[in-house]
Amino acid sequence: TSELTVQALAAELVVPETEVIKILFMKGIAANINQVLDIETATMVAEELDCEVETQEEESEARKVSEMLDVEDLEKLQARPPVVTIMGHVDHGKTTLLDAIRETKVAQGEAGGITQHIGAYHVDLPHEDGIQQVVFLDTPGHEAFTAMRARGTRVTDIAILVVAADDGVRPQTLEAISHARAAEVPIIVAINKIDKEGAQLDRVRQELSEHNLVPEDWGGETVMVPVSALKGENLDTLLEMVLLVAEVEDLQANPDRPAKGTVIEAHLDKAKGPVASLLVQNGTLRVGDVLVAGSVFGKVRAMVDDRGARVETASPSFAVEVLGMSEVPAAGEEFEVFVDEKEARSQAGQRTDQQRHTRLQQAMASRRVSLNALS
Ligand code: GDP
Ligand code: MG
Repeated sequence: TSELTVQALAAELVVPETEVIKILFMKGIAANINQVLDIETATMVAEELDCEVETQEEESEARKVSEMLDVEDLEKLQARPPVVTIMGHVDHGKTTLLDAIRETKVAQGEAGGITQHIGAYHVDLPHEDGIQQVVFLDTPGHEAFTAMRARGTRVTDIAILVVAADDGVRPQTLEAISHARAAEVPIIVAINKIDKEGAQLDRVRQELSEHNLVPEDWGGETVMVPVSALKGENLDTLLEMVLLVAEVEDLQANPDRPAKGTVIEAHLDKAKGPVASLLVQNGTLRVGDVLVAGSVFGKVRAMVDDRGARVETASPSFAVEVLGMSEVPAAGEEFEVFVDEKEARSQAGQRTDQQRHTRLQQAMASRRVSLNALS
């Protein structure tokens, strides 16, 4: 990364250099135009000037959001369901909440009760005149975000941040906030365990406010819903809020094109061979499609949904378990369908070569560094 000087910062902020120097001076920092500033100091200056600050990392992550959509898609966009991730500190109730949401659905009398583990759940919620589908990712939220962050992809549209009312904001709560912010994913807070004796809702609101999540009824913008995942209390309100936020997000994709998306889970099954759960983020995935996930080639032999039902197609925001990959792709890897099988095979091969090349370069670079350190 390049170094940020006073001069460069002034140019970024479109203010005279003297202005930046003045602000630094007021804060007790004597600087000239060639002074290199750290991120914190630069951020402080920008904030003094009422500028929004985005670090490079955040910026590139935000840019990736649109990478699933191509220019050609723009004319054919249709609404797609939101993909939701549940995050929060360990034991604050993520699993219980997801189970409760799923159970509500099963209790509502949908066919089947046997669920297939594919890393995602599709839930139908009553909404306005019809049904609105929501997809919940099952991977522990923060792991999913960490993997995505490392690869610069975004698979989730909304984060539900679970905070236990008897425990408050904890380290992984903060980590979750940071992940969601970096990916520019809106956060809905579920203040959980309100049935417990030691529940302190206002304390949680207060602690979250200190991290710039200010509840709506305190004049902020963050939706906070008190719930009990265990007793199923107020979950309908939470889900309504999910739909509301989804509506504002105006989520769209083009179902009428070859699929693109992300591998959310993958493993080797003794009987079935490589099994990959794919989240379709644009286009429609079909049995028979030829695809490349990372450097792994595949031809979709069969697809199964979260009910264990065989399906022929998967449209945007839906996750399916796919059979027919040549190897086990890495979770978090992007996949893409190719119309031409030869093209796909050559792409997969090229990417393998590329990966080998990168790895070799990295190995050499680290050797160079250690040699330098010795000299
Ligand atoms: P996770 O680590 O975030 O997935 O948390 P779990 O869902 O495994 O929950 C941790 C513990 O908290 C379990 O013993 C749950 O039964 C309990 N728990 C979760 N939600 C509630 C709730 O709303 N009320 C109460 N009293 N306990 C809860
Ligand atoms: Mg859990």
